[in-house]
Amino acid sequence: MYLFSSLFILLGLMGTSLAEDAPVPPASTAPAVTVSELTKPVAALTKRISDMFELYKWDIPEYTKYKWNHVRNSDIGTPLIWTTFGQETSTSTENTTLVLCGVHGDEITPVKFCFDLMKNIDDQKLLNNFVVVAPLVAPDSFLKIPPTRTNGRGVDVNRNFPTKDWKSEAIRRWKISYKSDKRKFPGHKAASEQETIFQMNLIKRYKPNKIITVHAPLTLLDYDGPSLTAEAGRSAESLLKLMSEKSSGYKISNYPVFPGSLGNWAGKEAKIPVYTLELPNTNADETDKFWTTFKDAMWFAINHRMKPPVD
Ligand SMILES: [Zn+2]
Repeated sequence: MYLFSSLFILLGLMGTSLAEDAPVPPASTAPAVTVSELTKPVAALTKRISDMFELYKWDIPEYTKYKWNHVRNSDIGTPLIWTTFGQETSTSTENTTLVLCGVHGDEITPVKFCFDLMKNIDDQKLLNNFVVVAPLVAPDSFLKIPPTRTNGRGVDVNRNFPTKDWKSEAIRRWKISYKSDKRKFPGHKAASEQETIFQMNLIKRYKPNKIITVHAPLTLLDYDGPSLTAEAGRSAESLLKLMSEKSSGYKISNYPVFPGSLGNWAGKEAKIPVYTLELPNTNADETDKFWTTFKDAMWFAINHRMKPPVD
C-alpha cells in the first residue's frame, strides 16, 4: 500500500514538473500534459476567482468544463493556469491562436472576456484550429482588492519581456517617460517575473501563428509583428482590418511598443503577429456587451490561417 501511494505521489510530481514549454509529442501518442482537472491548487484558485466574479456580479465560470494546465506559480504561490481547445499535434501547419487575458489585473473586463470566449468555443466549429487560452496571466493583481496593474511583486508584466532594448531602455524610459510611475515598473531584470516566463513558455511550446492579448480601456485594436510591407505582414494586416470590420469598425491604432512589452518581444522580434484588443473600459457591468461586440472578430481570427511568419 505504501509503495503504491509513494509511486502515485512520484507520478504526480513528475506530472507537475513538466514545463509550459515541454515539447509536443505526436498527436497519436500524445499523453495529455494536462494535470487532472481541478487539482487542489487549481480548485483553490477557482474559488478565489469566483469570489471576485461574484463581487462583480458576473456568472461563475463552469471551471470543470475545461482541462486546466498548471505548471508554474506566481512568486507568492498562485497557480498560473491555461487551457486549450482542439487537438494538439506536433505539426507546424496547424493554426494555433494564443489568447491572453488578465495581464494587468486592474483591467478586470478582459478576464471576463476570456472566460466568455472559453464558454463559447465550440469544439465542433474549431475544425483543425487550435486555441490556447490563459484567462488570468497575472492572478495576484486581479485577486487583490482593489486590483492592481502590477503583479504581486510590483512589476508591470507587460514591460518585463526580454526585448533587445530592455537593458538599455526599460529602466531609463520608465524613469524619464513615466517619471518612475510604480504602476509601470519594468522590474529590476528582464524576464524576472514568473508571469512573464509563463507567457514566454506558452509561446515557445505552442508556437502560435498569432497572439491575441486583451486589455482595457484604450478602445482600439493594435498590431505588432512582421513588417506590413512583407507578405506575412500583409496577411496579418488584412486580419487586423477584418477584425475591425467584424466589430462594427472598431478603431485600429498603431500604438507604440515599449521596452519589455509582449508586442515588442513576440511581435516585432519573434515576428509572431500580436493583436492587442483594448476593450472600451473596465466597467464590470459592460462585459456582456463586449463579448457581443467582439465575438465575431474573435471567431474569425481564430479560424484565420496566417501566412508563416517570415519577413
Ligand atoms: Zn493593459
